[in-house]
Amino acid sequence: MNYSDGDPRDQLTHVGSEVVRAGLVVGSGGNLSARVPGADDFWVTAAGTWLDRLDRSAFTRVRITDGSSVASDPAEQPRPGTLPGRSDTCLPTSELPLHLAIYRRRPDVAAIVHLHPQAVLLLDALRERIRLVTTDHAYYLRRIVTTPFRLPGTAELAEEAGAATIDGTNCVILSHHGCSVLADSVELAHKRALYLEEAARLTYQALALGRADALNECPSEFIQAIEAGAQTTA
Ligand SMILES: [Zn+2]
Repeated sequence: MNYSDGDPRDQLTHVGSEVVRAGLVVGSGGNLSARVPGADDFWVTAAGTWLDRLDRSAFTRVRITDGSSVASDPAEQPRPGTLPGRSDTCLPTSELPLHLAIYRRRPDVAAIVHLHPQAVLLLDALRERIRLVTTDHAYYLRRIVTTPFRLPGTAELAEEAGAATIDGTNCVILSHHGCSVLADSVELAHKRALYLEEAARLTYQALALGRADALNECPSEFIQAIEAGAQTTA
């Protein structure tokens, strides 16, 4: 899959199948979105979609400023039987407020991957911090923030998560629920989601071995080099 061009819906469809294949998703848990290039809109998965069964029809287009659904194609006419102001027959995910809250606060964010990954949520339930073990974890995740439990789909959940991203945080754990991973591209959001779950799995394994306290995290000199803007890659 080439992430460098193409319809964002096709890129998100690829992410959906890959995260299910990688075991990050069970059932229809999670939702994906990406900005429409050059527009005040984003594509988001429709309610109830299974992430490994997406196609372009599984996305609805939503305007960021007012949260309204807009025509997938500006020339498209509303279909019979749809609600006034809507041209799509499918409703966006119930987590639409979460995506809106982030896009409105972070103009640099072009994609959001919201999943319910098992290891991330197990560590959250144990109140264990995810350790950044490798250079990949440090480079791609950098800072992980956990927000308190709020009912899924509510404005309160969206506000908590949105507020957590204002300082540039790209990995937010919604306690007992899931994670929202942000990036300036679909590919980078995909990578971050994979590395977040990997870091959680390694942390869990260290806990299971009874060695979490002895776990050495990625050396601080690497973090400092990243923050200093050094030309380093993970
Ligand atoms: Zn969710």
